[in-house]
Amino acid sequence: MDIRIGMVGAGQIGEDHARRITEKIAGARVTAVASRRREPAERVAALCGARVEPDFAALLAAGDVDAVVLASPSELHEEQTLLALAAGKPVFCEKPLAITAAGCRRIVEAEIRQGKRMVQVGFMRRYDRGYRELKRAIEGGAFGAPLMVHCAHRNIAPHGHFTTEMSVTQTAIHEIDVLRWLLSDDYASVQVRFPRQTANADADVLRDPQLMLLQTRGGVCIDLEVSVNCRYGYDIQCEAVCENGVLRMPDPSGLLVRADAKRYTALETDWVLRFLDAYDQELQEWVEDLQNGRLRGPSSWDGYAAAVTADALLRAQKSGEIEPVSLEPCPEIYVMPNL
Ligand code: NAP
Repeated sequence: MDIRIGMVGAGQIGEDHARRITEKIAGARVTAVASRRREPAERVAALCGARVEPDFAALLAAGDVDAVVLASPSELHEEQTLLALAAGKPVFCEKPLAITAAGCRRIVEAEIRQGKRMVQVGFMRRYDRGYRELKRAIEGGAFGAPLMVHCAHRNIAPHGHFTTEMSVTQTAIHEIDVLRWLLSDDYASVQVRFPRQTANADADVLRDPQLMLLQTRGGVCIDLEVSVNCRYGYDIQCEAVCENGVLRMPDPSGLLVRADAKRYTALETDWVLRFLDAYDQELQEWVEDLQNGRLRGPSSWDGYAAAVTADALLRAQKSGEIEPVSLEPCPEIYVMPNL
């Protein structure tokens, strides 16, 4: 039987997810939409043959909503996730799980009280084909243990107001999660270095680029370049240096063009297109896991671990020092085979 979904938030990603569930995902349909203003909610509801509920409380109480997708503003995620848990309804929460580590922790505690996993966080990079290939190769063991990971996260230019801190909370947050998953290891410490400032950003508001250095408990050193004004394209790079080989995540395949005395492949210009397949796969697997009664995707604990690491990076931006990452032992309900 189809999982009946209540969509919360009719903005950019809410609309994308509603369309995706309607057009691509097997085993689920959107039955209700709630947003702040009625007009966007009606537009999204019309896309998926759903009705509009006046607010989140009404959507949660509806008899034909089995699970909710939160695509609302980040500062609402904690309250809405806690209310959904209290109502016994599974939640797919777009990242971040909450805007503070303490908020994520409250969700972890509430979920533990329920006695089973009910929350999944929208860290979609874990569903990207390239990252999955890289993880399989690392875990296969043929190349020995990973020693270092070189990464880059480059955006053409930020949308709207963007600050030095947002390079951690909005941008690096994806690498924080996916590298922890890739290496099956938690972080021990972090540091942030500021190279020469790009003329493309006002240094009083946004220090750009940034070099984030993370070390895992197992000793792997990660260097992550975050450049949110690179101007040339949306470019995500990841290369694992292992004992007996170097594994580079494949670039998304595109047409190889030979023309005008050049040989080139076009890059995407934004994350929506670069990770289109990963977003589809993440929701498809979430639906299948709900049907099987066992969630395996990014958990509340993963959302909490990412928030704790992001906090350490924010401290490191200010201090210039190596900052420790202090994470308690993982509670039992979150210890399960990774994807
Ligand atoms: P957005 O375009 O601003 O959409 C947010 C939507 O939530 C708007 O339709 C807004 O309505 C609605 N809303 C506001 N208050 C609400 C309430 N009380 N109840 C229900 N809906 C409410 O933002 P977005 O870019 O879609 O981002 C939404 C979330 O997804 C953010 O947390 C963001 O971090 C996350 N996100 C994740 C990824 C990813 O890569 N995984 C990518 C993009 C975004 P109004 O317009 O009327 O205020």
